[in-house]
Amino acid sequence: MKSMPGDVTRLTEALVFAADAHRNQRRKGAAQEPYINHLIEVLDIVARSSRGANSEVLVAAILHDVVEDTPLSYDDVAKTFGPRVATIVRENSDDMSLPKDERRRARMAAMPHKSTEARIVKMADVISNLRAVAVSPPAGWGADRKLGYLEGCRQLIDAGRGADQVL
Ligand code: ZN
Repeated sequence: MKSMPGDVTRLTEALVFAADAHRNQRRKGAAQEPYINHLIEVLDIVARSSRGANSEVLVAAILHDVVEDTPLSYDDVAKTFGPRVATIVRENSDDMSLPKDERRRARMAAMPHKSTEARIVKMADVISNLRAVAVSPPAGWGADRKLGYLEGCRQLIDAGRGADQVL
């Protein structure tokens, strides 16, 4: 059998890694989708973006929540997928030891300083999260809560706008 190109096996390895790391997690939506659905969607959005099509950013898209939401660390990601991927993941990982408001402030403050790759992944994450709120909102979320979430996303994207030009 003909062997698969390296980039493809790197992606499939990342999918297996993420599926295992997030195996006990579900999305917050009423439909409680398996967490991997979100990661595949973020991968798909990045893959379709004109600047997303390199293996580092595609692998980072799959792994973007692994440090924030599972016990795995930067080093665990770096050991298997290298420091570039691990850094993009870390750039998009909130410090979950901070209170929610501070986390939000830190997320906004970090946006202009992120690498281009990290911002591509973050934007794809936001698109996927907004879609989830539209299609399968968490139980009990009324219109105000959804609009508040949309506004938070808008501010986050605004905070990173134009960052490429300053680099
Ligand atoms: Zn995410």
